[in-house]
Amino acid sequence: MQDPCGNCGRKFDRSPGYLLGSIYFNYGVTALLVVVIYFSLYFGKVLAGRQLLAVTAGFSLLFPVCFFRHARGLWIAFDEVFDPWPNEEEARALAKDKPLP
Ligand SMILES: [Zn+2]
Repeated sequence: MQDPCGNCGRKFDRSPGYLLGSIYFNYGVTALLVVVIYFSLYFGKVLAGRQLLAVTAGFSLLFPVCFFRHARGLWIAFDEVFDPWPNEEEARALAKDKPLP
């Protein structure tokens, strides 16, 4: 991930541990999909028993790895709605870094 953004200069990793919030999105989407897939296959009588367990377990292991970048994107978008960049403190830090005219 290019940090800061090459286009607008937004800093994506705003503070240490900031991007950990994306884990919640990754877990939430994964859990939701596993539940939907499990019950769809179970009640659709497509798979049962160990096959159903293997498919959903495999999905729950592989999907979060593939969804990692999208979860970060969702987290950053979510954060941008509630705490737009730069906030007051970040704006002060940015102004401090800029050379005086
Ligand atoms: Zn940008």
